[in-house]
Amino acid sequence: MPHRDRPHRDRPHRPRDRPPDSHRPEPGPVPDPAARLAALTRRLDEACRRAGRPLGSVTLVAVSKYRSRDAVAAALDAGQRDFAESRVQEARAKWPQLRARHPGVRLHLVGPLQTNKATAAVTGFDTLHSVDRPSLAAALAAAMARTGRRPDCFVQVNTGDEPQKSGVPLDGADAFLKECRDVHGLPVVGLMCLPPAGRDPRPHFRLLRSLAAAHGLAGLSMGMSDDFEAAVAEGATVIRVGRALFGPRPRRAGGPPGTR
Ligand SMILES: *Cc1c(COP(=O)(O)O)cnc(C)c1O
Repeated sequence: MPHRDRPHRDRPHRPRDRPPDSHRPEPGPVPDPAARLAALTRRLDEACRRAGRPLGSVTLVAVSKYRSRDAVAAALDAGQRDFAESRVQEARAKWPQLRARHPGVRLHLVGPLQTNKATAAVTGFDTLHSVDRPSLAAALAAAMARTGRRPDCFVQVNTGDEPQKSGVPLDGADAFLKECRDVHGLPVVGLMCLPPAGRDPRPHFRLLRSLAAAHGLAGLSMGMSDDFEAAVAEGATVIRVGRALFGPRPRRAGGPPGTR
């Protein structure tokens, strides 16, 4: 294929790590999640090996936003247990029945979170990846106190200082982390980032890692379908993968909020 022979630098950075089959639309409504999960796990293991990290040191979170219940059920049947949704309402509609059938499921919330959804987020999810501002931290702390539920929290950092993107600005990250832990007592386990699209994500991953180390945080939620191997090389402990597992993202009016 001429595509393959193209010199490396002619290609944009991101698509390089994309599995070859994600360029094409899926023939059926549900791609074969068991085969995709096996292939993804092989790539993840290989990335760990290359990075000199133990296999199993990275949690694969399957991002199931906008996916049908059938697609999710197939991934569950294939053994996947960590899933992420980007909207509280969608998770509420989709997950109670699935959870009842698969008690080991851990549900993650990625994407922007409104303060008025704090209680639903705290009761419906096991891990929150987008804690990014004082009003939200306060609302989550109150919701945790009220419900007794304490999901793990990742503080999202806007490493590219992109005005349209969620995440605490870089120059406010130290103060915000201190506030989350010392004022609100949130169970902060790590940091999360979404690097700017179309650029080398590695400097952003490195920045996130050094910021986490400076705060004594072990968790690093970074890496998606196109860049998770680079993220693993830079120390990711959680990768959030949608398209590489479920196929091309379904079209939605307005596009997914808070993502590229
Ligand atoms: C949608 C989404 C992902 C998954 O992206 P893919 O490119 O489909 O792997 C990861 N993280 C966040 C925050 C997302 O919104």
